[in-house]
Amino acid sequence: MPDPTPVDPTLPVLAGYTVRRVPGFQARKAYLCPACGMDIGAGVGHVVAWPDGVAAERRHWHLHCWRIAARRGRIA
Ligand SMILES: [Zn+2]
Repeated sequence: MPDPTPVDPTLPVLAGYTVRRVPGFQARKAYLCPACGMDIGAGVGHVVAWPDGVAAERRHWHLHCWRIAARRGRIA
C-alpha cells in the first residue's frame, strides 16, 4: 500500500517545516486554516504542515494559503 501522504515535489517548501498534501478523499473533517481563518471543509483537498519533528503542531492549510506563506518564506 502506498504511503498516503507522499512527498509532493510540486508543493512549495518552507524552511524548517514538513508539509504534505491531504487529498479531498482523506479530508474527513473540517479544519480552520491558520493563515486566513476560514474553514477548510471536509472533503476539500488541502495541505498539512508542521515544524520539522514537532508533529503535535500540525496545522491544516488551504493550498493557496500555504503557497503564499511559502513564497513569503514564513508562516505568520
Ligand atoms: Zn486559508
